[in-house]
Amino acid sequence: MIYGLEDVDTHVRRTADVVIVGSGAGGGPVARELSGAGYSVVVLEEGAYFTREDFNLDPVDSLVKMYRDAGQTMTLGVPSILLPLGKTVGGTTTINSGTALRILKPILRKWQVVHGLRDLTEEELNLIYAHLEEYLYVKRADPEVAGKVAQTFLRGAEKLGLSSGWLPRNAKDCEGYGSCVFGCPNDSKQSVNVTFIPDAVANGADVYTCCRVERIKVEDGRAVGVIGSFVDPLTGKRKKNRVDIDARVVVLAAGAVCTPYLLLRQGICNSSGQVGKNLEIHPAVQTVALFDEIMGPPKGIPQSSYVDEFKDEGIVLEGGTVPPEIHALALPFAGKKHFKLMSEYPRMGIFGGMVSDTDSWGRVADLPRAGGRPTMLYMLRGKDVEKAKFAVQIMTEIWFAAGARKVITPIAGHYEIRGVKDLKRLEKSRVEARDFYAMTAYHPLGTCRMGDDPEWSVVRPTGESWDVENLYVCDGSVLPSSPGVNPQLTIMALALRTAGFIDDKLSGSETSALKSDNRRESEA
Ligand SMILES: Cc1cc2nc3c(=O)[nH]c(=O)nc-3n(C[C@H](O)[C@H](O)[C@H](O)COP(=O)(O)OP(=O)(O)OC[C@H]3O[C@@H](n4cnc5c(N)ncnc54)[C@H](O)[C@@H]3O)c2cc1C
Ligand code: SF4
Repeated sequence: MIYGLEDVDTHVRRTADVVIVGSGAGGGPVARELSGAGYSVVVLEEGAYFTREDFNLDPVDSLVKMYRDAGQTMTLGVPSILLPLGKTVGGTTTINSGTALRILKPILRKWQVVHGLRDLTEEELNLIYAHLEEYLYVKRADPEVAGKVAQTFLRGAEKLGLSSGWLPRNAKDCEGYGSCVFGCPNDSKQSVNVTFIPDAVANGADVYTCCRVERIKVEDGRAVGVIGSFVDPLTGKRKKNRVDIDARVVVLAAGAVCTPYLLLRQGICNSSGQVGKNLEIHPAVQTVALFDEIMGPPKGIPQSSYVDEFKDEGIVLEGGTVPPEIHALALPFAGKKHFKLMSEYPRMGIFGGMVSDTDSWGRVADLPRAGGRPTMLYMLRGKDVEKAKFAVQIMTEIWFAAGARKVITPIAGHYEIRGVKDLKRLEKSRVEARDFYAMTAYHPLGTCRMGDDPEWSVVRPTGESWDVENLYVCDGSVLPSSPGVNPQLTIMALALRTAGFIDDKLSGSETSALKSDNRRESEA
């Protein structure tokens, strides 16, 4: 059952085989697997539960209800970067764009060689990916539904001879409402709130919402449960009733920001000193193009197409048709100029570029004056600045090849590019991290990284903490680095794999990564 605040008016004290903290890309798959294997599973989720009836295409309503801190989570550093996080059943998948990609091969090789994940073979991962793609109805975006912006951008990329195409997405019968990041109003997007969590509940799992875990119970070096409070989902204020779960296994799946924060607050699992460190966020830059013709928004798929010509250099471009509220954020102007430009919204297109951050520095910290919240420290540095600049340049070239009359970039001193001369000036100029306006990032990763060396990693290749037995981490924090593309499918794949190891441990049986009835059914 999924319990809301209204269903729980006393303290909750329970015993389970497995308690899972967080219900997103990591927590949902573990919940389905282990409940499907016959274990009693309790999921504790800080956010509230919403269904398609609640997804009303109202951005402000969605931000307030389904995003941590109403979508205003920012990194501290240069530049300051908006890093939104989901806080609802389904975690960030409920408000993500639905792109479903496999890890880039060179990155997997790096994980195997540098981080010692030799047993994480391409063959095994491909098996799990194939299962996920079937379960989540992953298929290429339909160009007809995607909208004219994506079609136009791809036309520009093709003219320049760049490798490009339609993105694989976990959306079934997508109608292009364009509001994936505010919740899919017709349940097309196969996010965790409509897939893994309902299946886990059908298997007998219980999900407590509006329930924030505050402490992991540890006895004699073993995790034995968690303690937390019910909270008002809007204000975050604690209610009177508490939750106290005893469990044989504790799974942390609170995401790459909240999982390390929980561990840092309590001062556990950190003999390596790596908890919270190695934060990678996949910084993103956006360009807006103005056309003479009507581009057809707002209907379309927000993220439907890609250019991956520069993926080996750590740059991937992705985009589509996004709602006006997101366009408005990407324009580096204020007042009348902003208003005038926004009135041209029907003639605008927007596209984004993501940078695999290899030179930058990031960390999740528990700072004394942060009001009981995690702080994300991040400095964009070195080659990553160059990559972000190059992503802007190449998007600008593509827009012009597609027929744009003007391109608006986020780089100070180069906000308006009207043609080749302006573009050449941008190419020649030196750009610093502080010059980027409204940089965003959507993929925090790496803060409890997995590895074979206890001095260099936080969890073992099985996902279990090196320091605290029976404590597993199953979320974006265990990825040793950015997978080079959008991470949800890889987070889910590693979570399913870890669920297999947990099952082995609980049952004392031999290794077997995927055991649920769901998988057996899908293979039959
Ligand atoms: C706008 C946006 C668009 C995106 N688009 C894509 C995309 O198209 N494709 C893609 O692959 N990725 C995308 N991502 C990223 C992807 O959704 C995330 O990487 C992924 O969901 C992270 O999974 P996770 O399990 O680490 O954390 P989450 O999915 O964020 O789940 C963590 C959950 O834990 C809960 N929690 C935290 N602390 C506690 C606590 N103390 N007690 C109880 N519960 C707690 C949170 O409320 C949250 O619900 C996008 C992200 C954003 C913000
Ligand atoms: S574009 Fe619309 S229908 Fe398609 S997945 Fe996103 S919100 Fe759902």
